[in-house]
Amino acid sequence: MNGAPGCSPGERGALPKRRWYRGVFATSSPMGAGSSFLLRKGWVAVKDVEALRSEALAGIAAALDEATLERARVEWLGRKGPLMDALRGIKDAPAAERRDLGLALNRLRDELEAAMAARQAELRETALAVRMQAETLDVTLPGRPRALGGPHPLQLAEDALVRALRQLGFRLAEGPEVESEELNFEALNIPKDHPAREMHDTFFVADLPGYVLRTHTSPVQIRSMRAHAPAPVRIITVGRVYRRDDDVTHSPVFHQMEGLAIGEGIGMQHLKATLYEFCRAIFGRDVRIRLRPSYFPFTEPSAEVDIGCVFCGGNGCRICKGTGFIEILGSGMVHPHVLREGGYDPQIQTGFAFGVGVERIAMLRYGIDDVRLLFQNDLRLLRQF
Ligand SMILES: [Zn+2]
Repeated sequence: MNGAPGCSPGERGALPKRRWYRGVFATSSPMGAGSSFLLRKGWVAVKDVEALRSEALAGIAAALDEATLERARVEWLGRKGPLMDALRGIKDAPAAERRDLGLALNRLRDELEAAMAARQAELRETALAVRMQAETLDVTLPGRPRALGGPHPLQLAEDALVRALRQLGFRLAEGPEVESEELNFEALNIPKDHPAREMHDTFFVADLPGYVLRTHTSPVQIRSMRAHAPAPVRIITVGRVYRRDDDVTHSPVFHQMEGLAIGEGIGMQHLKATLYEFCRAIFGRDVRIRLRPSYFPFTEPSAEVDIGCVFCGGNGCRICKGTGFIEILGSGMVHPHVLREGGYDPQIQTGFAFGVGVERIAMLRYGIDDVRLLFQNDLRLLRQF
């Protein structure tokens, strides 16, 4: 301890102040020949209270922030501080001095607490003033609006397709994107040696033999039929499909929407009427449609569906390649093999199906000429919708 017996006042003055008092009171020893403190059994003389007072007030005044002030509070007013030591020492003081000493020390405690509070208020005010200076806020500036997201053009197209078919009484059905080869191919009349299987450049699942990333949404047709046969079904399904294509008009992941209706007495006329209403909902009331004979393994007969070119009104332009028509979907009457796979008797129930690429609809609706733009998440494109 620095306040060890025998220290001269000169040496004492060179010590850090806060350790000086600590030493005096902690050791309860005389400070040496020149000490003004009369310490006996840990009590301090009344005349020495003034020295304690000036030291403590200087310590409080020296605190330049609240943390330092808090340290000063612990140091001077804390349970192990000199004031508490002195208060505890009153009982050891001579009876004649005890009353005055108690009064003086209690007055000192009140004074120090008031000084602490005053200094704290002062420091807070200064800190606030500094902050106000640093963080000038112009409340007249306009606010910063939070940026809101918007639906992706693919989502917009998908919503429009689903809405159009829901109005015609179709119910939304779902299926997995990792699909069995059986549902993706065989049940849809695409056997292993079928040339259409060559057209589907398929992603196989390495750790799951017999499974593929579905190459079309048609497996959902089989799933829905098997869930409902022999009752009639009228469903739409929409979602991601996968093929190993990648160019201006093909992306390895793309979206299909398809519809299926099965029941007794359903014929080509129902297909055509449904497609007509569907196309009018998507492309406008005045749209014209045209069915061309085509081939798909899962429908017989099959038809490609064209709409009158929405860009030139049928006069012929670059986009319709001068024909006045744009191909938008494939359709047909459900193949008897597919009906049987779904649990229906083709002699009793018949049905139609059609499928459309969501990207193609989005590109036509919004005049986008490269399918890959839809997957690049470039805000310059997306902000236009
Ligand atoms: Zn055209």
